[in-house]
Amino acid sequence: MKEKFAIFGNPVAHSKSPQMQNAGLNHINFDGNYEKYHLENGNEIKEVFLKNNYKGANITVPHKEFAYENADVVRGLAKEIKAVNTYILEDGKVIAYNTDAPGFLKAIESFGTIKNVLLLGAGGTAKAIALALKSKNINVTVLNRSEGKLEFFKEHQIPCFSWGNFEPTKYDLIVNSTSAGLKDEYLPCDKKILKTVLKDASFAFDCVYGKITPFLALAKENGLEIKDGEDMLLYQGVLAFEYFTDTKANESLVKTMRKGLKGE
Ligand code: NDP
Repeated sequence: MKEKFAIFGNPVAHSKSPQMQNAGLNHINFDGNYEKYHLENGNEIKEVFLKNNYKGANITVPHKEFAYENADVVRGLAKEIKAVNTYILEDGKVIAYNTDAPGFLKAIESFGTIKNVLLLGAGGTAKAIALALKSKNINVTVLNRSEGKLEFFKEHQIPCFSWGNFEPTKYDLIVNSTSAGLKDEYLPCDKKILKTVLKDASFAFDCVYGKITPFLALAKENGLEIKDGEDMLLYQGVLAFEYFTDTKANESLVKTMRKGLKGE
């Protein structure tokens, strides 16, 4: 029987997950199909997942927290992040994972050894990234536009600041996990602060993919090695794929999924 997979989001029309996941399924001759599911009400996610007989699913904005709350079992770092992007049906139970966190770690491997990170933003993605870094004993400091979302980081003993009270030190890597630069041309942080931290850093990573954001452009101007969010998106998808199909991804599968993601 053909297995069904989906991505839940609102909006979901723009998602590249189906083209990436279907490329992977075809590559290993898995009898399955991965589709988009526009979900209005995040509280219905488990019910919709079960009713549609999905074997697995990904969850994107704004449903990751709802997906966490509705899962039967949450595994791994997702228990601390309290947001999940992957569902698997296992013995009739909905099992949930967060693959954004390990996907990010895999994406920054190309930078080599990193010891100190400044993470811009304090939203859902920042929570996953901060705990992923902490789990690898990499020092992480969070800097956000406003105070409101900092509580989570305080609870996890992660140094965190808003623009007004920030005291910069030296960081190897600056990460933009804000949505600035996604659909606008804003920098993720006050330019003066940004220039100070970029001066001493070697690497810049932006979670936004498929474009050189103003943040990455400024980092490049300051001589940093830059990277956009494509690898993070790819690897969170590859890790989800491994759960969906119970297979271990090899290099040729990853290559195929990357091509699928890029529509090649
Ligand atoms: P959230 O809405 O949860 O958080 C947004 C964050 O951005 C908040 O900290 C907010 O600050 C900050 N922000 C928004 N606009 C600005 C601005 N103009 N200047 C400074 N700060 C701003 O979003 P997510 O964490 O879910 O997603 C963040 C980004 O990461 C998005 O661009 C998303 O596309 C990308 N992403 C990429 C992935 C990948 O695989 N490559 C995976 C997941 C996300 P405040 O608290 O002050 O409002």
